[in-house]
Amino acid sequence: MTAIRRVLVANRGEIAVRIIRACRKLGIESVIAVSTADRASLGATLADRVVCVGPAPASASYLNKEALVHAALGSGCDALHPGYGFLSERAPFERLCSENGIRFIGPSAAAIDAMGDKINAIAAAKKVGVPTVPGSDRVDSAAVARETGARIGYPFLFKARAGGGGRGMRIVRNASEAEAAFTGARAEAGAAFGNPELYIEKYIENARHIEIQILGDQHGNVIHLGERDCSVQRRHQKLIEEAPSPVMTPKLRKSMAGSAVKLASSQGYVGAGTVEFIFDANTRDYYFLEMNTRVQVEHPVTEMVTGFDIVAEQIRIAEGGSLADARRPPELRGHSIECRINAEIPENDFMPSPGRIGEWIAPEGEGVRVDSHCYPGYFVPPFYDSMIAKLIVHAADRRSAIRKMDEALAGFRVTGISTTIAFHRAVIAHADFQSGNVTTSWLERTFMPAYAAASSSEVPA
Ligand code: ADP
Ligand code: ADP
Ligand code: MG
Repeated sequence: MTAIRRVLVANRGEIAVRIIRACRKLGIESVIAVSTADRASLGATLADRVVCVGPAPASASYLNKEALVHAALGSGCDALHPGYGFLSERAPFERLCSENGIRFIGPSAAAIDAMGDKINAIAAAKKVGVPTVPGSDRVDSAAVARETGARIGYPFLFKARAGGGGRGMRIVRNASEAEAAFTGARAEAGAAFGNPELYIEKYIENARHIEIQILGDQHGNVIHLGERDCSVQRRHQKLIEEAPSPVMTPKLRKSMAGSAVKLASSQGYVGAGTVEFIFDANTRDYYFLEMNTRVQVEHPVTEMVTGFDIVAEQIRIAEGGSLADARRPPELRGHSIECRINAEIPENDFMPSPGRIGEWIAPEGEGVRVDSHCYPGYFVPPFYDSMIAKLIVHAADRRSAIRKMDEALAGFRVTGISTTIAFHRAVIAHADFQSGNVTTSWLERTFMPAYAAASSSEVPA
């Protein structure tokens, strides 16, 4: 067990602030690596030291491995936290850190590689008996795709082997659509991930996204912290998450969490990770989707219902700490919901709305948490993800959590830029959300058409 003294925060935005807070709590110093666009960020104010690693475009700063490792070495850091996105799931980055004596707060390069390649990850899941979606291995032509379609039935999805962020996916409803979808998905995957390879999964029409948070230590212990339901999505990206899932039962949780722990254990997994499943709302079967080998955006809802500090656990695990005392199903307390607040215009196809914030009055109170890097007068740069805050509530049950979220959203005042605050209020007020009766396509198929009609009728002609 070797204590970490100083951590390089290799990320930005709210997660950089979150990591700095965890370091402070553990008595560890933090150095934040920033681009020139983030010199005035809250993370830069809160960290013990700031190192500029490059210009605004992420490719020249937050994605520049060498610059980040130089910054860590030059500022005397003995560890690095990658956050989410950016370099968090790049095995060569973990290798570069290790070669330079910087502890990467996350799993080994081998584990990142094993799970980051989705076809290999699915094979690993199958090997230990974790259910996977009927589908194919690598598909190299539209003709082979049609053969797969004849075997598993339509609709199916083309998915990118190196995929992430909901990109590179195409639904194919019948054989005649296979050719165009194959070409389109390949091009998108190649451009987004530098790898055009595709595979096929049966498309689950009435699906929920349910995922299990796991933690593994260096001593072979793997535990789970229950599930999160992330079914409210737009373009395969999560907008609202909650824990526990409205459709969960103790029996299903035991099975799903058991699958997640089994898979992570088979990889000798060390660190925080999430095993994602697609849940068929018609049959109540679940299938492995992928494993994310990092902290996730939505980790706070798990923290609220379990009392675990997941980021602090990541650091403790990297120090060699043990989870042996936590090897029992977590006690889940109450219900937690998170809304991802973005600087976007929902009425204009969620167009980004960067710019200078005027007023910023975030809600407070018992069971209300705001993870954000914003403040009055902060300039939201146009170069990065549009998320400006995560609003998280915790209450005794789902109904009271929804009520608390509504109040918190109502009291969240931001001027100067457009945000998705009012949009979230409308989503959680919808009868389908209130009854927990949503699927991954609900927002786009059911909610958005009505929302668009209502908001356009409010605009005077
Ligand atoms: P998660 O799986 O953590 O909930 P998503 O699936 O919504 O996150 O995010 C897709 C990808 O985009 C992931 O690689 C995630 O790390 C990255 N990402 C999401 N939000 C941000 C953000 N605010 N800043 C940087 N990267 C982000
Ligand atoms: P990413 O790496 O982009 O996060 P995932 O495999 O996790 O890719 O899928 C992202 C989202 O796409 C899921 O949450 C779900 O909404 C949808 N999706 C993925 N696979 C399927 C499937 N086989 N059937 C239905 N929806 C799917
Ligand atoms: Mg995913």
